[in-house]
Amino acid sequence: MDAEFPVSKGWEKLSSTLTRQGRPPQNEEGAPVNLPLTRGSTVLFPSLDAMQKQGHRRYDHEYIYGAMGTPVQHELEKIIASLEGGTDCQIVSSGLAACTTPLLAFLKAGDHCLLPDSVYGPTRRFAETLLKRFGVTTTYYPPCADAATIQSLMQPNTRVLFAESPGSHTFEVQDMSMLASVAHAGQAKLMLDNTWGLGIFAPFKHGVDISIQALTKYPSGHSDVIAGAVTVNTQEDWHMLRDASIQLGQLASPDDCWLTLRGLRTMGVRLAHQSRAALQIAHWLKNRPEVARVLHPALSDCPGHEIWKRDFTGAGSLFGVVLSPQISQHAMETMIDSLKTFGIGASWGGYESLVLPTSGGIIRKHPVTGAPQGPAFRLQIGLECPTDLQDDLAQAFEIFKTAV
Ligand SMILES: *Cc1c(COP(=O)(O)O)cnc(C)c1O
Repeated sequence: MDAEFPVSKGWEKLSSTLTRQGRPPQNEEGAPVNLPLTRGSTVLFPSLDAMQKQGHRRYDHEYIYGAMGTPVQHELEKIIASLEGGTDCQIVSSGLAACTTPLLAFLKAGDHCLLPDSVYGPTRRFAETLLKRFGVTTTYYPPCADAATIQSLMQPNTRVLFAESPGSHTFEVQDMSMLASVAHAGQAKLMLDNTWGLGIFAPFKHGVDISIQALTKYPSGHSDVIAGAVTVNTQEDWHMLRDASIQLGQLASPDDCWLTLRGLRTMGVRLAHQSRAALQIAHWLKNRPEVARVLHPALSDCPGHEIWKRDFTGAGSLFGVVLSPQISQHAMETMIDSLKTFGIGASWGGYESLVLPTSGGIIRKHPVTGAPQGPAFRLQIGLECPTDLQDDLAQAFEIFKTAV
């Protein structure tokens, strides 16, 4: 049954870690509860010799020079690495930079990479423009493709197999262990955009080599920060990633790192509430006559639902809705314009609810039957009272009685 799996369980389990880590030592006399915010470029050394020695410690999350990260950034790196279950993390300037930095670090001219057709739009544009210009070719694969299909798309020069699970507009859950075995058999790295699954999906246990986070979403949680994180699980990958990040000048500002660390304290309770509310609203929508499909991994008809049940310990607050084919794109847009509690806007993971029409060819047809689908939109469920959100959707759906 759809609703039985406790979508909030994984989030509740995170809260002890999130309240304890990245803080001054417990019970140290005079220690403040929180880390101080350290802004800075130059770090001073007692001697030239000490400075030169310190310069070799760029892999150790030490404060050497502001462009290589500040103390709060390094504490944030340790927490994200532990949430992801990896060894080391690099904070970068945005979620998009968290996608592009490892692609630049692990690919070179002449290489080939595989991206899912459901991939975050700006990641696709990066592959189609910059990566292409630098001599890297890309093939797109169906996000639910089986091992034989992925295998057939692998080339001798395929060095990266990229995944995004679930797709942030289409919500197919991918089989990471299967992708890992195909990637590794071909000497390719498996990269995962794990933004939806932070803390409720353990990437490295499922064979992922590089895990990507938009910290802009759940960790900062208040729609006031842009930042990203890349986590790896071996020394070799860490050196590749760290060197590329330093060469590209990747970091996040001390203020943004501090705000993200602050946001993380409440991520467990926020998401426990938001995931329950999202599932409640998803069920309510599923029973509406205007709705053809609800794209939520915890619903049994979502592609990859069985994989989600096997691999995840919870669900996020973001899901998709496909309207019935008789409803026009224009009628859906009128409906969206008449919502009052949902904000119209990009991004997700904050405390407030959002709506966004779903674009891109992949949503136009049913993932299994290939039949044409109605217009679609995406909901991010925030901390508002769930019945207020349902009431808002219900009043907006009244539009469909006159405009179809
Ligand atoms: C938002 C998002 C990003 C990019 O994050 P920004 O911080 O906005 O650049 C990357 N991947 C996914 C899946 C996202 O939802």
